Amino acid sequence: MKLARFTVDGRTRLGKVVGDQVIDISAAVPDVGGSMRLLLDQLDAVRGAIEAVDAPSFALAQVTLEAPIADPQKYLAIGMNYQDHADEAAAAGKPVPTSQLWFNKQVSCINGPFSDIEVPSSAPDMVDYEAEMGVVIGKRCRHVSREDARSVIAGYCVVNDVTARDWQFRSPTFTLGKSFDTHGPIGPWITTDDEIADPHALTMTLELNGEVRQQSSTGKMIYDIYEQIAYLTEVMTLEPGDLIATGTPAGVGIAGNRFMKEGDVVRVSIDGLGAIENRFVNEA
Ligand code: MN
Repeated sequence: MKLARFTVDGRTRLGKVVGDQVIDISAAVPDVGGSMRLLLDQLDAVRGAIEAVDAPSFALAQVTLEAPIADPQKYLAIGMNYQDHADEAAAAGKPVPTSQLWFNKQVSCINGPFSDIEVPSSAPDMVDYEAEMGVVIGKRCRHVSREDARSVIAGYCVVNDVTARDWQFRSPTFTLGKSFDTHGPIGPWITTDDEIADPHALTMTLELNGEVRQQSSTGKMIYDIYEQIAYLTEVMTLEPGDLIATGTPAGVGIAGNRFMKEGDVVRVSIDGLGAIENRFVNEA
């Protein structure tokens, strides 16, 4: 299934995408109060009810798609997880990690798949993009083995890990440079795991104003998705709706000294998961 949040007639609803339509599934999941996070927590129990819904249906072109999860409890991201990106960072003098490098994007940065992204007035000069595959957790879990990791995944989405490089490099934790409001566009929906034969065999492409800047395969991750989940859950409990950004390949703006300015449009697409497209605007 492709699970979405969308707004039409002034009301935001949960939906499933079928072809070029989105079907309102709110009536099938009355207990979740419109929260995708709560829906994922009970997905096994309500999957049949969701699959049975066939109305009301809206054309995708007629609705506004929202971030598929508005309220994850965590948004974790791994850095330098594609060798060609680690190489371009090393060429710029950045240390290359010898273990998984994790940081947080604060959940308040989450933004819609087609919403505008702000070039912040306090960080106008080095705003950058990062195409990534997002993984959405479906089960509360701790100490998950690599072999069992796929069983805790609800599904996948497209992510742009928007970054203010100057703020990122001021601090070894990255947190502030990764967490400006609007810098977490995700979507366009969550494609459930059962629809993806191999999450490590998907082509990912980022276009800036129609020109391809990043293109790679999710199979080129240094630490694959299952290793990431095993490593994280040595430390912490993961919860339904938690979001993981799995790293970006080469071609980020800083490598070519080309940063985002008002009017730039960035589109990130991943095979089988759809595409998100966001315009950059100066913060009002
Ligand atoms: Mn990233």
